[in-house]
Amino acid sequence: MLGPVMAALDKVEFDGAAVGDALSEVRREEMSVHPGVRRYAEHATRMYLENCSHEDEELRPVQESWIVQRVLPSVVWELYAWGRRYEAPDGGLREFRFLRLGPARERSPAEIAIAAFVAAFGTPAAWPKPWSEPFQPSGRAGAKRVRVLEVGLVDGSVKLFLDATADDVEAYFAEHGRGRIGQIATGEEVVPGFGCATCKRIAVCHGPVRVPGLLGVESGQGPLRTISVSGLRYYRTCPAQAYLRTVHLPRAYEYSAEAEMGQAVHAWLEKVHQRHQGGCGTEMMPRPGEDWSAGEWRVRSEFADLGARMLAHHVKVCPFQEAPDIDSVRLEPRLTVFDTTARAVVVAKPDLVYREEGRWVWRELKTTRKPRRHLLDPLEEFPQLALGVAMLAAGVLGPSGAGRVELEILRPSGAEIVLIDPNDPERVTTARRVLREWAGPWRADSSFEARPSQNCRWCPVSRWCPSYPGHHPEQKDDEENGAVTRTPAES
Ligand SMILES: [Zn+2]
Repeated sequence: MLGPVMAALDKVEFDGAAVGDALSEVRREEMSVHPGVRRYAEHATRMYLENCSHEDEELRPVQESWIVQRVLPSVVWELYAWGRRYEAPDGGLREFRFLRLGPARERSPAEIAIAAFVAAFGTPAAWPKPWSEPFQPSGRAGAKRVRVLEVGLVDGSVKLFLDATADDVEAYFAEHGRGRIGQIATGEEVVPGFGCATCKRIAVCHGPVRVPGLLGVESGQGPLRTISVSGLRYYRTCPAQAYLRTVHLPRAYEYSAEAEMGQAVHAWLEKVHQRHQGGCGTEMMPRPGEDWSAGEWRVRSEFADLGARMLAHHVKVCPFQEAPDIDSVRLEPRLTVFDTTARAVVVAKPDLVYREEGRWVWRELKTTRKPRRHLLDPLEEFPQLALGVAMLAAGVLGPSGAGRVELEILRPSGAEIVLIDPNDPERVTTARRVLREWAGPWRADSSFEARPSQNCRWCPVSRWCPSYPGHHPEQKDDEENGAVTRTPAES
């Protein structure tokens, strides 16, 4: 996502182009870039240049990477960091800058140690072409003093992490960097998820479970993509919003008070289920009339009361209440499936999965203030249930049989459980059709055009969307939908 920003900064810093000319050139060269990404890239480039020029000292931009290389008999070992590089004309000081899409924030000591180490001891080298070739470092290695900082591209914020001599950097690297590199170089640790789609090893990796045809759609030679049920919901609202979320552009705060309460209820149940798997009791729930918090979510007054009433009703439908034979409990597990037919990495996060009498149960939780009604097939209304049915039917959780998919609905007035049998062929067929209807248009889309509507008013990425119609203050907030109108925040 930083490609267009880096390209524009390169033209300014290494070719001497004016900012406007550099941005027009990148626009011409990268015609296929999404208009929202282009708008962000132009903003980010200007932010960087306005906030990061050193007026008090002369630093020149460095085009080559700094490489620490060890050529061993069987392997070439190379260490470098990805960001922007600067140095004093006499070479005594080198500065490395990480870039972040949002505001500058903390980095791990291992990341800082590696960036500092390559700045302090690395040799300049051009990016190898092809990439599979080793770097060919040449020129002066190292600097006496090193600075490592981060620039937040959304607002030009700068955070200094380290300003140290080469000797100090060596000690810092020995403490924080060397061990981590050993783990990365030898590691077999596999964490499948949102990174899989861009990983070159996905074809051979044993991490994600393979289920060809899970989404029921075919893809020609399109690029591998990642999707979740939330992503499909965003897509149905607006393809541009879905895309700009996928590429992690900075978002305005997007939770209404009611949505915060829903998150808090989920977090509360996750916490109590972690501690007690003998069934929830009333005494484990928030007390009525008091504000409460769970995880990062805090709820107050009216919403604290609503949430407390919902949680009190959970006690009656807690899955661990008088449960006969339960094991393999996993709270909010991240399940990653590679649909090789759709060329999609599907990431699901059920609220709870467990085995009951040797069969898998998949439970989703929904909080709502709407009264009880039975109009739609739950598989149609909640595509996450369709995904649960399709995944259980495909044996994604393991060799034990599929038990059931459950939807727990908590209301201030009561609780309800909706059961779906993943062994019923009709339910499986319906689940697959629902998934195909949700995923088909998404898989076939390659332009992700905006679909302006009243949803734009609470879209958290509208700031980057050239189709955003702007805020119309005469429109009233749609309180019934739990939506609030916000001017996109300077997040
Ligand atoms: Zn419970």
